Amino acid sequence: MEIINRRQRMSSVARKTRREQDRTIGLVPTMGALHEGHLSLVREARRMCDVVVVSVFVNPAQFGPGEDFERYPRDLTKDTALLTDYNVDYIFAPPVEEIYPKGFSTYVNVEGISDQLEGASRPGHFRGVATVVTILLNIVRPDFAFFGQKDAQQAIVIRRLVRDLAFDTEILVLPTVREDSGLAISSRNLYLSPEDQQAAPVIHRALARAKEAYKEGERSAAKLVDIVRSMIEAEPRGRVDYVSVTDAETLERLEKLDDRPILIAVAAYIGTTRLIDNTLLNSVKKKDVITAKV
Ligand code: AMP
Repeated sequence: MEIINRRQRMSSVARKTRREQDRTIGLVPTMGALHEGHLSLVREARRMCDVVVVSVFVNPAQFGPGEDFERYPRDLTKDTALLTDYNVDYIFAPPVEEIYPKGFSTYVNVEGISDQLEGASRPGHFRGVATVVTILLNIVRPDFAFFGQKDAQQAIVIRRLVRDLAFDTEILVLPTVREDSGLAISSRNLYLSPEDQQAAPVIHRALARAKEAYKEGERSAAKLVDIVRSMIEAEPRGRVDYVSVTDAETLERLEKLDDRPILIAVAAYIGTTRLIDNTLLNSVKKKDVITAKV
C-alpha cells in the first residue's frame, strides 16, 4: 500500500492503472477517522475492483462557519493500519492546498436538491461536497465510487452531479452500518458523552416506528413526521433539527404518500452533538448492480 499526498502522483498512478494495466479502479472518498461504516464501503470496493483507492481528506469547503472543521477527528496512523488490513492499494491523503491551490475559484453547485434538508440547515455544505467529489473523480477517474446511504442526501446530490456532468464513474450506495443499539455509526459519535450514547439510539427507533406505521397503512407524511419528532423530543437529551418525508430521488416534499420510494430523513441534536439518519420506504435493492464486475 502506498500513501499518496500529491494530486499529480495520484493522477499518474491511476492513469497507469487504467491504460497500461487495464485494471478497474474503485474510489472510496472519506474524511478519515475510519469506522465500520467506511470499512463496509472498502470491503465492497475490494470485492468489485482490481485497484482500491481510499481518499482521506477533511474537506474545509463543506464545513460552515462555527461548525466542527477544526475539531473533526483525525488519525491517519490508525486509518492507515485499518486500510492495510483491508488490502487497500492507495490512500490518497492530500493536504488542503493540494486540493484547493492558491487562487482556487471554481465551485460546483447541484441546484435545487442541495438547498433542502441538510442544505437548508448547513448552507453551502453540498457545494463543498460536490466540488471536492468533482476534484477527486477528476484526479482518480475511478470506474466505481462508493458512498453510504447514511448520508442519503449526499448520495442523491452525487448521483445527480455524475449524471449531469457526464462523469464516467458508476456511483454505488451501500446500506447504513449500525451499532447493535441501532445507532448509525458516524465519526461524530466520538463527540457523544456516555449519557448521550445511551440516548442516541432513539433516532433509529423513531425512524423504525415511522416505517412500521407506514407498513400498517399510514399515508400521511405529517403523521410520520409527528411520530419521529415526538419520540426524539421525548428523550430529554434529544432535540430535532428537521424531520422530512420526501420522494427518495427528487427530494420533493410529500403530503400524501404512495408506493414510490420515499425517504424519511432526520437531523437531531443529542446533547450538543448533531446527528443525521434516515430510512427508506419502498426501496428497490439493486443487488445485481453491486455485484457486477467489469
Ligand atoms: P465521511 O468520512 O463521514 O465523509 O463518510 C465517508 C463515506 O462513508 C460517505 O459515503 C458516508 O456516507 C459513508 N458512511 C459514513 N458512515 C456510514 C455508515 N454508518 N454506514 C455506511 N456508510 C457510512
